Parts: sequence; structure tokens; C-alpha cells
Amino acid sequence: MNHMNKSTEYWQGLDRAHHLHPFTDAKSLNEKGVRVMTKADGVYLWDSEGNRVLDGMAGLWCVNLGYGRKELVDAAQRQMLELPFYNTFFQTSNIPATELAGLLAEVAPAGMKHAFFANSGSEAVDTAIRMVRRYWQAEGLPERNVIISRNNAYHGSSVAGACLGGMGAMHEQSGLMMPGFEHIMQPYWYQDGGDLSPEEFGLVAARALEERILAVGPEKVAAFIGEPIQGAGGVIVPPDSYWPEIQRICNQYGILLIADEVICGFGRTGNWFGSQTFGFTPDLMTMAKGMSSGYMPISAVMVGERVANTLIEKSGEFYHGYTYSGHPVAAAVAIENIRILKEERIIERVAEDTGPYFQEKLQIFAEHPLVGEVVGRGLVAGMVLVKDKKTRELYENGSDVGTMCRNHCFSNGLIMRACGDRMVLSPPLIISRAEIDEMLDKAKYCLDLAAKDLG
Ligand code: PLP
Repeated sequence: MNHMNKSTEYWQGLDRAHHLHPFTDAKSLNEKGVRVMTKADGVYLWDSEGNRVLDGMAGLWCVNLGYGRKELVDAAQRQMLELPFYNTFFQTSNIPATELAGLLAEVAPAGMKHAFFANSGSEAVDTAIRMVRRYWQAEGLPERNVIISRNNAYHGSSVAGACLGGMGAMHEQSGLMMPGFEHIMQPYWYQDGGDLSPEEFGLVAARALEERILAVGPEKVAAFIGEPIQGAGGVIVPPDSYWPEIQRICNQYGILLIADEVICGFGRTGNWFGSQTFGFTPDLMTMAKGMSSGYMPISAVMVGERVANTLIEKSGEFYHGYTYSGHPVAAAVAIENIRILKEERIIERVAEDTGPYFQEKLQIFAEHPLVGEVVGRGLVAGMVLVKDKKTRELYENGSDVGTMCRNHCFSNGLIMRACGDRMVLSPPLIISRAEIDEMLDKAKYCLDLAAKDLG
């Protein structure tokens, strides 16, 4: 398998001939040819042309421990030799799945003691949808089945996840929207806040939930779901007033609160979970990505007492699960990942050292002519590209401007993602201060190039 001897053109040709990529315009990709990544170490990746790139996105917001962690590889290998697979259906378990459930109960907020396993964030979200509906059925209120989400939210790519999320482009391609999902405004102050202070606007955006609950009828609403910080939406950090008000409204109407922690979970914001950073207590949490630092596909729904008690005591058999729910190899890697996060105090480092350092240094972009707001928490940040800083006017072709910046980054050794007109960074949590300096210097250089292009 001496694949490294083959040329980039060989891999590009094979890819063009046979590989359909996620979230990619195949035609335009075919014109350029795919960039082939071949190896990685720490925060760096190398492509098939030998170029070194700093991965400012931790893969897809997931490689939190960075690349090349041998302990994770060893954990997988040990488990593959011991028991490569056994399922967790029909009254069986395996030791890693059980141990991981116990560990998650330790690191999750108080009261969240049960885990349901799946393989991806999308599957965790689907599980949460089915679980809250099953909860209300078992409580004798099956008409409570509407789930409220937000515009520009991302909750995965399954049929239900695409409908539940608030991505307009995904809705357009979904054909018929599934019933039972509602969307309210997002807490995006820079775009929609007008003359309100961020804190005033946070309350307005949260109260849109109450208005929608009343419009739908509280007796029909099952749950509200939100990412503590919207990730794929462009790292939209809500004002501090937002989440406590959402919590108050959910409590008042007795509806379940789901935190989609697929990006924020496992240290990204400087706490184990984003809900802790924003001071709210969800009934369910979906998690994936950082759970295994992306070394193995694994996800979970953490379930609080209210829902767990009903599922255990009143539901009977819950007809839901995946062949690989609680896969022993993926679970063994997740256990090792959590051990390293704890032993190396990585989340504390994000909270006390690298997170504040990153957020402070990012402020150099506040002065940049192309950049409006610069926001973030811990080791995640987003900045909006603006036409006019004073009036907060956005570009009409904002995603083209984003793509232009992203392409400059790509050609200059940095992976920085463009989410429409927002540029985002979410590096591995093990990034050092010197690597943060390098990442931000490169980002600045590339935004300068884009500003020049735009004249
Ligand atoms: N939920 C959130 C908040 C996400 O950011 C993502 C992926 O980026 C998902 C769900 C879907 O996860 P996956 O791509 O693993 O299915």
C-alpha cells in the first residue's frame, strides 16, 4: 500500500471520477481538483504537495486533542484486539460503553446521569427528537410534539436534522419540510440588533420563543433546541441575557430544553459544556466531535433526570438505536480522550490561559477595515466581513467575500473557515500561545490580501 508514491494528479483524478463530497459543488471542485491531505501532527496538516497548513478548525471543530495522539490509537488497537464489536441492544452491553456512560455522567452537569450512544452529531440530534417525543407520549401528552429551533441553526444533515436546523439553503433542497418544527430568530446582535444594546437585544431574541410558544399553543410544544454558540451559522455568540431568559421561558411552559453541544462540548468554550459557560441547565445535551477528538465516530445524548425517569419508568421499550450505538472501539477512544482532557488539564488551560490569550489577540481584527464584530469564547471565534464598519452594512455577496478570504488562507498555510460572510476559527485545544500567534498572523495577512482585492 505504497500510496504516497502516487501523484496528486492521480488522487485528484480518482476522486473526480468516483467521490461525491459533502457540502461541495462537485462541478467547481472538478475544475480545480481536490486538495489531498496526507498526514498530520499536533495542530498541523500536510497535503500531497508537501505543503504544511495550520489547522485553525481542528478538522471540523473536532480534533480537540490535536493530531498524532498515540494514546488514542493504542486505546483503539487494544480494544479491537479484545472485543472489536458487540452491540448494546437486547439487554447486552460491553465494558467500554458502560464505562464511558459512567464517565460522561461524571463530567456532565449535575443531574445528567444517563447516556444514549450514536455515531454522529446528526444521529444524536435525531435521537433527541425521538426521545423528547417519546417522553411526552409516555407522559400521556402525545400532542406535545413540536420542537422549536432557530434560523441559521445547524443540527445536522439527516432528513429531520436538516428540517430542524435553520439553514435556508438546506431547507430549499429538502423538498417537503417535515411538520413539527418551528424556527424563531437567532440572537445575532450585529446583524439584527439595530439600536438596542446587546443585552436588550438578547432579551428580545429570547422572547421570540415565548411568542412562538403562545402562537403554536403551549400544549403542543415539546422542546426548544439551541447550540450554546451557533457554530456553522458563523460562531454567533448570544448576548449574556439570552440563555437565562430562554431557560426561564422553558421552565414557565414546562417545555424541554435541549443544548446541542456537538461543537461546544468537551472544552471548546473553556468549560466541559457550553451550557455551563452561558449559565443554563438543559434537560438533554447532544454531543459528538470533541468526545473522541474525531479519532472515532461517536456521539451521545446525555439525558437529565426528568426525561430519564420517564423513559425508564413509563416508556416501555424505546424502539430506537443504531447498530454501532456504544461501539466498543469508539467508546474506548472516547474514554482515553476524556482521561487526557482531565489529566493534562486541557479545559482549565483553555479557560485560564490559551482561551483568554486567543480572545485578546483577536482584537487586532477589530481595527481591520474588512471586519465588523469579533466575538468568541475560549478557543472558538467568529468575525463578520463588512462593507461599512460604521453603518454595520454587510456585503450583498457576503459568501463570495468569505470564500475569497478562505482561499487566501488556504494558499497561505492556514485553514480558516468561511460561514457565509463570517470567518471562523476553532483550533485544536492543545494549541500553544506561539501557534496562536502564528495562526492570527496568517489570518491577518490573508484578510489584508482580501481587502486589497476588494480595493
Ligand atoms: N449539531 C451541531 C451543533 C453541529 O455543529 C453538527 C456538525 O457540525 C451536527 C449537529 C451534526 O454532526 P455530524 O456532522 O457529526 O452529523
